[in-house]
Amino acid sequence: MNLEIEGKWALVCAASKGLGRGCAEALVADGVNVVITARGDAALQATAEALRAFNPAAQVVAVAGDITTPEGRAAALAACPQVDILVNNAGGPPPGDFRDWDRADWLRAVEANMLTPIELIKAVVDGMAERGYGRVINITSSSVKAPIDTLGLSNGARSGLTGFVAGVARQPRLASRNVTLNNILPGFFDTDRLRSGFTKAAETSGQSIDDVSAARRNTVPAQRFGSPQEFGALCAFLCSQRAGYITGQNLLIDGGAFPGTY
Ligand code: NAP
Repeated sequence: MNLEIEGKWALVCAASKGLGRGCAEALVADGVNVVITARGDAALQATAEALRAFNPAAQVVAVAGDITTPEGRAAALAACPQVDILVNNAGGPPPGDFRDWDRADWLRAVEANMLTPIELIKAVVDGMAERGYGRVINITSSSVKAPIDTLGLSNGARSGLTGFVAGVARQPRLASRNVTLNNILPGFFDTDRLRSGFTKAAETSGQSIDDVSAARRNTVPAQRFGSPQEFGALCAFLCSQRAGYITGQNLLIDGGAFPGTY
């Protein structure tokens, strides 16, 4: 399928590893020029090199910085000649018990997983509408649909973003101008974040990392974790010309883990 997005410019946030990188790879494979961000410069530059090797025809710009800060967002936006595609992503908040979280913990989570994507959406969508093309993807979590009690910071902050996006996506001044906003909700994906969670769970429970990982895998009907490449493929499709009639949606990608009919 020709996605017809060759030559577009995408800002892919938090993309040196994991799901963000999977999205950048899929977009670059389809000829999209990308600006990728992450805080750690070494991994970011290595990813940029890999992307350039992947498709030498695509331009790849790496901007090191913390996307949850105004400076980080300004630098990322300044590096992108025009944002046709925005993939919002950042690290997820830590797990824990809500009794232990103070106001500062909540503000950090809301800043990273709700206000940062909202600020970036605000910066780009009107320009997209003027040009008649725009795609916004927010990487959220299956925990928005099926909350995980230890991820209260994530459940709360990401649900706030989800409510905001539901309203904005339906503004006729955006939807009628071929600007779509959608959220992708990952279940378990084989990334550093998932693996570090297993390491912590193994330390707490006294089980081996392999046993923790196997137990988690067994909760997924597909009996495996998803790959960043599978995640990126869905992202690229939603960013394509083909997906212009899909907006305001929350798309689960979880190997069947969510047990509901709808
Ligand atoms: P990951 O493998 O740990 O990768 C995270 C990427 O984001 C890295 O490139 C990291 O680079 C970058 N990053 C983190 N914080 C950043 C910041 N403040 N500014 C700029 N870049 C930042 O994580 P992942 O598994 O891909 O997860 C991505 C998102 O999906 C997270 O919010 C996570 O909670 C959510 N999620 C993941 C899963 C899963 O199974 N993997 C499931 C549900 C939800 P630096 O550290 O160098 O900045």
